[in-house]
Amino acid sequence: MEKTTKNTAIPTEITSVIEALEKGGYEAYLIGGCVRDLLLGRTPRDWDVTTNATPEEIIPLFPKTFYENDFGTVGVVNEETGDERLRVVEVTPYRLETGYSDFRHPDEVKFSTKLEDDLKRRDFTINAIAVSLSNGAIKDIVDLYGGFKDIKDKIVRTVLNPNDRFTEDALRIIRAIRLATELGFTINNDTEMAIQSHTKLLPKISAERIRDEFIKVIMSKEPKRGIELLEKTGILQVIIPELVSGKGVEQNQAHAYDVWEHLLRTLQHAANKEWPLDIRLSALFHDISKPETRRFSHETKQYTFYGHEVVGSRVTKKVLGRLKFPTKTVEKVTKLIRWHMFFSDTETISLSAVRRMINNVGVENIWDLMNVRICDRIGTGRPKENPYRLRKYKAMIEEAMRDPISVKMLKIDGKRLMEVTHETPGPKIGYVLSALLEEVLENPKLNTNEYLDKRGAELIKLPESDLKKLGEEAKEKKDGKEEENIEEIRKKYHVS
Ligand code: ATP
Ligand code: MG
Repeated sequence: MEKTTKNTAIPTEITSVIEALEKGGYEAYLIGGCVRDLLLGRTPRDWDVTTNATPEEIIPLFPKTFYENDFGTVGVVNEETGDERLRVVEVTPYRLETGYSDFRHPDEVKFSTKLEDDLKRRDFTINAIAVSLSNGAIKDIVDLYGGFKDIKDKIVRTVLNPNDRFTEDALRIIRAIRLATELGFTINNDTEMAIQSHTKLLPKISAERIRDEFIKVIMSKEPKRGIELLEKTGILQVIIPELVSGKGVEQNQAHAYDVWEHLLRTLQHAANKEWPLDIRLSALFHDISKPETRRFSHETKQYTFYGHEVVGSRVTKKVLGRLKFPTKTVEKVTKLIRWHMFFSDTETISLSAVRRMINNVGVENIWDLMNVRICDRIGTGRPKENPYRLRKYKAMIEEAMRDPISVKMLKIDGKRLMEVTHETPGPKIGYVLSALLEEVLENPKLNTNEYLDKRGAELIKLPESDLKKLGEEAKEKKDGKEEENIEEIRKKYHVS
């Protein structure tokens, strides 16, 4: 690893802030996660600048700033930038922290004039590297705790004594796992042992903070490994014990894995597809209540899991609520779980059954439900993601949801037609509407009030027998078109 930042450029919005601080006679460094990511060739999520200047000294150096929080962070505003994330650059004075009686927040924040003090309060060695810049590239690296080597060796290790660090701030316990998961790093042995012996502090951390780290684990490329790490260290037992009960719960022959392994594999497939959080959560929790609903049937010599989707959806609601997930997420995920057991034997299933399913889970969720099913299949150990039956089911969904071809599509209705033609109700009105529909199907541009009023008035003058013939022919053509549309849908899914 070289000291350059070959692939990840440092934005000028950042370098100019550092230059302005230095020009004012102060020290200024990039620090924390952004340095770690730069050295790894990853794109930093956010940028942190640290300096020996106090907030009062930082503010006059920039045209527009604001005071961000209790930690002395100054937000430097750049209104010209095209990148919303760089509109505010955070500059924080070197800080010292003392006493953590609530296991989360330092009792007192003190500014310091020494960079070393600021590095010492950081969580992990890989996050405790500071770099100065010159011409937009890294100049000096200040690395007091071997972070550079740990990045090279892919190790998450606390700065100084792990027991102290986790006692000071228990959020670090779950941050360690999140970082190891996101970066594909291992956790240093002493650090891991200290995590294991401090998980009891986790309930002191706010649910929102735990949720945010948990989301990052789920949204990483390797969420399966992340959840396994959470379990291995005993964190999962504290934050989501409901999930752990799937361990060792065997299923029937169709399933290659126990419930726990199945859930993790289902989640991992959602990540492989880069699907969003809602789907990933549904994948992870969909069978969460299989353990408590499992019964052995002596008749079939098989396990049954009757109602596990109903119980599971309730349990998931409780878990996500406890972790303070937004109501919208909770509602969607619990719906997907509630209906994940839809019966998909397309040989026997009817279009109206599919319609009912769409109605149950909601039009807005139906395609996500299909994706959860795909993950479920792969997580079961089946090789095919999108087999005939599922494609057929999807074709049926589209068929059920498409707008039927009908005279309702016309910009004229029977009432209006009678108004413009002074015709009384009777079969002629129906024939004319059918004939108009046929014209509009041929040329959709004709579907205007103006044209249809005029054309309706012309057609109505034809003798009734001619009109009848015209209307019936048009209806036949319409039915043909309908069939063609359905054919199209089936072709799209390669089913018959
Ligand atoms: P990312 O931004 O990719 O999510 P990060 O490591 O940058 O990860 P931030 O929350 O942005 O995380 O924090 C920035 C830096 O602040 C960290 O790299 C670390 O040096 C320090 N830091 C964050 N949280 C803690 C903590 N709980 N204890 C000690 N230091 C922390
Ligand atoms: Mg960061």
